[in-house]
Amino acid sequence: MSANHVTPPTRAKSSTVAVIGAGIAGLACASALTQAGHRVALFDKARGPGGRMSSKRRPAAMLDLGAQAFTVRDNDFAAEVERWHNAGCVAKWPTLIYQASPNGWQTHHDGQTRYTGAPRMSAITRHLAKTLTAQGATFYSGTRITALTKTAAGWELTCENGDVLGPYTQVVISVPPPQAEPLVQPWDNALLAHCKALPQRSCWAGWAVFETPLPALPGVASDWQMARAQHPALRLISRNHTKPGREAEPESVSLIAQLDWSEAHLEDPSDIIAQQLFDALKSLFPAPLAFPKVTDIGAHRWRYSQPAEDADMPADGFIIGHEGLALCGDSLRGGRVEDAWLSGYQLAQALLEEGRSTASPR
Ligand SMILES: Cc1cc2nc3c(=O)[nH]c(=O)nc-3n(C[C@H](O)[C@H](O)[C@H](O)COP(=O)(O)OP(=O)(O)OC[C@H]3O[C@@H](n4cnc5c(N)ncnc54)[C@H](O)[C@@H]3O)c2cc1C
Repeated sequence: MSANHVTPPTRAKSSTVAVIGAGIAGLACASALTQAGHRVALFDKARGPGGRMSSKRRPAAMLDLGAQAFTVRDNDFAAEVERWHNAGCVAKWPTLIYQASPNGWQTHHDGQTRYTGAPRMSAITRHLAKTLTAQGATFYSGTRITALTKTAAGWELTCENGDVLGPYTQVVISVPPPQAEPLVQPWDNALLAHCKALPQRSCWAGWAVFETPLPALPGVASDWQMARAQHPALRLISRNHTKPGREAEPESVSLIAQLDWSEAHLEDPSDIIAQQLFDALKSLFPAPLAFPKVTDIGAHRWRYSQPAEDADMPADGFIIGHEGLALCGDSLRGGRVEDAWLSGYQLAQALLEEGRSTASPR
């Protein structure tokens, strides 16, 4: 376990809140509660924050293997993205999108403005985590929470290594619902039922790094940035080196697989998946075009990538239980970056309004 132990400022009426999961939803919730004067501890099983907005550092290139870009519709989220823009960790991208099939490529215009993290998607979540700890919150990275225990003093969190932390007056769980299930199961049947009503889809994400640029396609801008693929295995091609701040990196693509195909091949070895996604990419280029030498190839499995189409999402986009537990995350609102941020942010507002996070220890 590594913790950024910053001594929290003493504030009247502050309560201690544990936020499990440092994806964008957990960070949004933790930020709002910290700014309102509460003492927040944030936990993530990964080495850094980000979750499905994290980026993978490879020897020659930085790769985004989860969210590639996101849209903005809500006013509160727009104001937040403006703050990220001012902090220099977000930029507009992509502007050159295509629809790709073996029969040809067409430009794709849907009128949406999209943004990405700069110089990598995880720049946003790293900025949020850094700001949070500077404001007095504590971030425990590499800390998987395996169980919750309710005591007279409040909630205690058991970590994978056996450490017990707490007590906390409020616990916010922002992990995908199947991972939240074992945490809430002993304590809150209603939250458990919500988790079970939010099934998740799985998704493979491949990557390839090249020695030289991909061949130019006839009739397609050479600096195309993203392509929606019409292919049984491949859903999306994203050129990482066209993202703002990565211009000096070699050509690299992220290859996001179709959900049905991913689930049919979920337990296959990652090297086989990587090759199949690479073959799918090649099939979208006309036969005479020679591909450059690949210097790095691989695939990452997202077992919980997005909520299923039949997920029964709560009307509020978050859930407050009756025992000082609450759930947030993209799965409770819609499955996109904006949904995740709004779910965490609006949960924090609800907790603040109801005074739940300032209640006496349970
Ligand atoms: C391949 C892919 C492509 C995508 N493309 C887009 C896109 O183009 N546009 C868009 O808007 N969205 C996209 N998304 C969705 C977007 O990434 C998510 O909606 C968003 O990042 C979810 O954030 P979250 O905070 O709800 O969850 P997560 O990011 O999953 O955060 C949950 C965190 O909880 C941690 N955790 C889990 N269990 C525990 C535990 N027991 N203890 C401690 N920590 C734990 C995890 O490590 C993780 O960091 C994509 C997702 C994927 C996978």
